[in-house]
Amino acid sequence: MNLKSLTREEIGDILKELGQPAFRAGQIFTWLHKGVRSYEEMTNLPKNLREILAEKYPICPPTVVRKQESSRDGTIKYLWELSDGNCVETVLMRYRYGNTVCISTEVGCPMGCAFCASTLGGLVRRLEPFEMLDQVLFTQVDSGLPVSHIVLMGIGEPLDNFDNVMRFLELVNSPEGMNISMRHISLSTCGLVPRIDQLAKRKLQLTLSVSLHAPNDQVRGTIMPVNRAYPMDELLAACRRYYDATSRRISFEYAMINGVNDRESDAQELLRRLKGLPAHFNLIPLNHVEESPLKPSTKAAVARFQQILEDGGIPTTVRRTLGGDIDASCGQLRRKYNREKASR
Ligand code: SAH
Repeated sequence: MNLKSLTREEIGDILKELGQPAFRAGQIFTWLHKGVRSYEEMTNLPKNLREILAEKYPICPPTVVRKQESSRDGTIKYLWELSDGNCVETVLMRYRYGNTVCISTEVGCPMGCAFCASTLGGLVRRLEPFEMLDQVLFTQVDSGLPVSHIVLMGIGEPLDNFDNVMRFLELVNSPEGMNISMRHISLSTCGLVPRIDQLAKRKLQLTLSVSLHAPNDQVRGTIMPVNRAYPMDELLAACRRYYDATSRRISFEYAMINGVNDRESDAQELLRRLKGLPAHFNLIPLNHVEESPLKPSTKAAVARFQQILEDGGIPTTVRRTLGGDIDASCGQLRRKYNREKASR
């Protein structure tokens, strides 16, 4: 049990059992959400309470095992070791509108997408709420840069870890904690339809990103196994329901893969299928993963694709690739580190 996975009210219940006054819950919650590494730092708590808490509820902060900073754009990538020895990655990106942290939600990933390094070793385990929060807190503490935006686009499938991710969102949004607005948070999914509906019910103001990566089932089925369970018609219907419930435009991610999903006819097919759905497209030139035969599209193909979608009325951006010099795309650093560890 980690106190940092609990709400202020729940910490209050624990303190009550310890015979402590209720106001201590707020103090502890605030300290924890500042990223303290020990109860000793909670200087406004009585010493005996600090000792009891340290004994019963160890803080277990992650440790930095690798830190790489891009000399080109200031992107920083952290590889953290968790208290059980597993590792996850976090990336800090510096945009004009604010510093954005990309966090992992699972150790490894069960989804099996053909182009993605995070899933190569399968799912190891899901992260606890505090382990997601810690990535944001300790990235901020270590870098000294205030974090204003969060994207759940690191290792793992957030909707496969639904309850813990919902709890994390509640915690990071808390006014007594980091107070990060839902509008500054994006959650990315490969398309778990029932979970998209479950999320819609909560009517959060976050941005839902859907990893589409293909214009039809034929192509999507070959690169994303999830498409066999939830084919595109069902996925797009869920996106429409999500929009109806939340009035939030869907953001589609589309990794451009040479000769696989980047033809002009693919863009035209997308336009037909997305008709009437308020959407935004984010084209991502594929990041080449060593183990995969898939290659990125040419610049010209990306530009043409963007033009067709734009002409069809879908705002489309090409994602700037940050941190190209530091293995900044998902899963690559963890994989490299695990390989090195295995060969030692
Ligand atoms: N599981 C979630 C969260 C991962 S987000 C999801 O699938 O959306 C990471 C984003 O990067 C996803 O859109 C994913 O499909 C994409 N991605 C993974 N590997 C990539 C690669 N090699 N090149 C470009 N994009 C990639």
